[in-house]
Amino acid sequence: MPRTPRLFVISGPSGAGKGTLLSQVLRQRPDLGLTVSATTRNPRPGEVDGVSYHFLGEDEFSRLVAEGAFLEWANVHGHRYGTLRSEVDDRLARGSSVVLEIDPQGAFNVRRIYPDAVLVFIEPPSMELLEQRLRARGTEDEASIGLRLSNARLEMARAHEYDARVVNDELEAAAARLADTIDSFEKNGGNSQDGSD
Ligand code: ADP
Ligand code: 5GP
Repeated sequence: MPRTPRLFVISGPSGAGKGTLLSQVLRQRPDLGLTVSATTRNPRPGEVDGVSYHFLGEDEFSRLVAEGAFLEWANVHGHRYGTLRSEVDDRLARGSSVVLEIDPQGAFNVRRIYPDAVLVFIEPPSMELLEQRLRARGTEDEASIGLRLSNARLEMARAHEYDARVVNDELEAAAARLADTIDSFEKNGGNSQDGSD
């Protein structure tokens, strides 16, 4: 069955496993274009400018906001993050599906601009596991973990508003379900799978 390129928004609480699941899916689907967001937060060890994010100073971020360069931007856990219009439009113009990995505020803002965007909620099996995974990742201090967990409770309450939900329990299985979800929206608008290629 032919695929129709779609705009996918992968969202959910910090630590739910969005980045981990997407890197698995992109290995099987290198044709999916994952956009690189801009942020004012500092790079973590190992993060590369222009690959993980476009790391910007506050003034440069403000300049791009004023120029209308962002499709959406939001304050997330104390820093600004935004999706550059150019990243999305170039890929859609080339006829490939586009994937945004952004926070839930951004996801609902994108839906207002692109009503056909497919919003996928990545959820942890439980709040306890979310906290364990955030701590094990070791990238946040105590205050930031607390903020992410309290935001997560509010974000989970809106899970039913998404077009699809993937519980990130066992990694390989959850990644396969995310890949199937993407596939089914490209092939038949998210209706039940018909098993053909
Ligand atoms: P997000 O991108 O949503 O903030 P990450 O992808 O960084 O989340 O995942 C948070 C942490 O949980 C990471 O340390 C990651 O290795 C771990 N993790 C992700 N998925 C699973 C899983 N299915 N089982 C166990 N640990 C996981
Ligand atoms: P982190 O600092 O852990 O990389 O990301 C923190 C949060 O910011 C995550 O929930 C991530 O999805 C979100 N985020 C990353 N890029 C964007 C973006 O361009 N826009 C919005 N709204 N959120 C983003």
